Amino acid sequence: MTATLPETAAVDRDGVPHYRLFIDGAWVDTDTVIPVIDPATEEVVVTVAQADTSHVDAAVAAAKRTHESGVWRNTPPAERAAVIDRVIAALSGKMDELAVLSARETGMPVRLAGAIGVGFPLMHLGHYAELTRTYEWERSGPVAGQVLSASFIRKEPVGVCAGIVPWNFPAVIAVWKSIPALAAGNTVVLKTDEKTPIFALELAQLLKEAGLPDGALNVVVGDGPTVGGHLVKHPDVRLVSFTGSTATGRQVMADAAGTVKRVLLELGGKGPNIVLDDADLTAAVDGSIYAFLLHAGQACESGTRLLLPASIHDEFVARLVERLKTLKIGSPLDPATDIGAVMNKAQHERILGYIEKGKAEGATVVAGGGVPTGAGFDKGYWVEPTVFTGVTNDMTIAREEIFGPVLSVLKYESEDEAIKIANDTEYGLAAAVWSRDNQRALEVARQIEAGSVWINDYHNISQYLPFGGFKQSGTGRELGPDALNEFTQDKSITIDLSGDVSRRAYGLVLGTPPAAE
Ligand code: NAD
Repeated sequence: MTATLPETAAVDRDGVPHYRLFIDGAWVDTDTVIPVIDPATEEVVVTVAQADTSHVDAAVAAAKRTHESGVWRNTPPAERAAVIDRVIAALSGKMDELAVLSARETGMPVRLAGAIGVGFPLMHLGHYAELTRTYEWERSGPVAGQVLSASFIRKEPVGVCAGIVPWNFPAVIAVWKSIPALAAGNTVVLKTDEKTPIFALELAQLLKEAGLPDGALNVVVGDGPTVGGHLVKHPDVRLVSFTGSTATGRQVMADAAGTVKRVLLELGGKGPNIVLDDADLTAAVDGSIYAFLLHAGQACESGTRLLLPASIHDEFVARLVERLKTLKIGSPLDPATDIGAVMNKAQHERILGYIEKGKAEGATVVAGGGVPTGAGFDKGYWVEPTVFTGVTNDMTIAREEIFGPVLSVLKYESEDEAIKIANDTEYGLAAAVWSRDNQRALEVARQIEAGSVWINDYHNISQYLPFGGFKQSGTGRELGPDALNEFTQDKSITIDLSGDVSRRAYGLVLGTPPAAE
């Protein structure tokens, strides 16, 4: 079975829809082709051209030329926003088609793919368009120094920005990595993960049709260390916005240091999900499942450590296990499916390895613990939703990001202990608190070291709020009212209006000024 061929970016190559690289406004094919595999069926969904370092060089050169020409950075912000508006209009017409492709490419259920693979990009594009219109690109500054002067503070683009996109949410993260940078007048080279390249390449086509100048956005697809590493180290790249694992984030930071690039990192997490003893149990049980099972747990800000008070622990776990039995794991294309497949063989083995480690370290499996069997599971990469109880915070399954459908349940005696356990991690991306008492939950939320804390909810990432990590979960913020700050640099300009040489600081160097002419 082959996927529907979208009208635009893909062409036919050997009977399969095929995507190419997008460099300087043109599609560039390569001899080496990567199959994009459906994680649920192991079928080839599409193929994609594989970049090497020469393609990265060509993409950066195009982005640099376009930046220096001024064609995009001197385009008034309202016109830049209008380009984004046109992308929104075009993308709205492709929602169903892209949702199916996203489900096939990522293994996430099509219901979720519609929301996160297309709905989120649309909402976030709208937010960035609005910000582009309302952002204060230039303002008057104070009188500088002792003399009569005027000053301005300008927000200027940084230059060529690199955006590196992981495979788990390739659509919305491609938007985060490219659109605010473009909105701020930069040019961009986007590197998508080779397992999930479709949306970024579709976005390139939509931006081109919407009037983005050639070279302003370039998309390369390829392997991380070679293609991504070359991009990060490239001397003409001024900023790197990276989303991926903390281990790779460290490497990106080190590689960027050689040319003193600005680095924005969105990395991993080990989110504490704290249920207080007065929580609404029905809501908290459903919320805790949602927290760890979205996209089969392959979400950076998942709630993977469930902290339960001893007083309600057993009842809560029993209800959670019963509720899990009502969920449907299976084909991502079935609208009734709740849980899809995990990304690939490597990811499958990694998750199962963590499950074995949890058992070996003494935690108890109370749900799942292996691979589902039966019809539909003979092909593809599947892991049962798995719940461990008896977990202590020093166990591997409580400390390391598993990135799969695995929940570690930890018991606590007091709120102080819960906060201590929650913060005892190198990560700090997201957390949640469940309570019927908002004030009480708020007191706890204020003490959690994380960039986002949800009360009586989870995964509520809003385009209107900043999103990013504390500690080793990252640097910088995406979304929110200040999103464009990350992609601009401040320039101050002062004008001496005094005309009076004797009042200036020149005397510090030149001694007594000459008599006025
Ligand atoms: P990864 O770090 O392996 O790869 C991420 C991207 O970086 C890919 O495009 C990859 O090709 C590229 N890459 C790999 N090595 C590189 C290098 N040396 N230089 C430059 N680029 C390189 O991560 P992944 O497995 O694709 O994604 C899962 C990880 O991403 C998880 O840890 C998850 O928590 C994290 N994540 C974080 C956020 C967030 O916003 N904080 C969002 C989604 C995913």
